[in-house]
Amino acid sequence: MERHIKLLINLQEFDSLILEKQLVIKEIPSKISEVEVPLKKAQAALDKLKQIHESLEKKKRDKERKLDDINEKITKLKARSTEIKTNKEYQAHLKEIESVEKERYTLEDEILIIMEEIDNSSKQIKLEEGRLKSEKDKVEAFREKLEREVSEAEKELLALREERAKIVDVIDKELYNLYMSLIESGKGIAVAEAKEEVCQGCNMNIPPQLFVEIKRNEEILQCPQCHRILFYRSDS
Ligand SMILES: [Zn+2]
Repeated sequence: MERHIKLLINLQEFDSLILEKQLVIKEIPSKISEVEVPLKKAQAALDKLKQIHESLEKKKRDKERKLDDINEKITKLKARSTEIKTNKEYQAHLKEIESVEKERYTLEDEILIIMEEIDNSSKQIKLEEGRLKSEKDKVEAFREKLEREVSEAEKELLALREERAKIVDVIDKELYNLYMSLIESGKGIAVAEAKEEVCQGCNMNIPPQLFVEIKRNEEILQCPQCHRILFYRSDS
C-alpha cells in the first residue's frame, strides 16, 4: 500500500477516536440532567408536603388562639356569676356558659384532628426526605462516575492528539489540506473503505474501472459522489 494512503487511514482512525471521545464529553451535561429528573420530582413532592404541613400548623395556631379567647370568655362569665341577682338571670347565665363551653369542646376536637393530620404529615415528610436523600446519593454517584469518565476521556484525547500530530508532521501538506476539507464536508469521515464496488462513506456505487484502480492502493483516489478518499482493504 502506498505510504500516504496508509498515513491517511491512520489519521482517520485517530480522528474517529478523537471525535468519539469528544462526543462522550459533550454528552455529559444532558446525561446528568436526565438523571436529575427523579431528584427534582422528589424535591417538588417534598416542597408540596412541607407547604401542606405549614398550612396545618397555621390552622392549628388559629384554632388555639380562638380557644384562648373562649377560655378567657368563660373565665369572665364565671366571674360575673356573683353579680347575678335573680334566678331567671342565673338560668340565662348558665345557658350562656354552657353554649360557650360547647363551642370550646368543638374547637378542642378540631384541634385534636388537626394534630393528628400534622402527625401524619410529619411522617410523610420524613418518608419523602428519605427518598430525596437516596435520589441525591444516586445523582451524586452518577456524577462522580461521569466525571471520572470525562477525565479518562480527556487523558485519552491528549494522547490521541499527540499521536495524530506525529502523522500530520510527516504527511504531505497539500494532501493534509484535502483531508481536512473532506473531514469538514464528510461529517468527520474523510477516508472511506471501498468494498464490493461500494463507497462505505456514502454507500454509492463506484464505477468498475475506478474500483480496479482503488484496489491497487497506489494513488489517492476519491469517491465520485462524496469525494472521500477511498482505499481497499485486501484482507476483508
Ligand atoms: Zn462516497
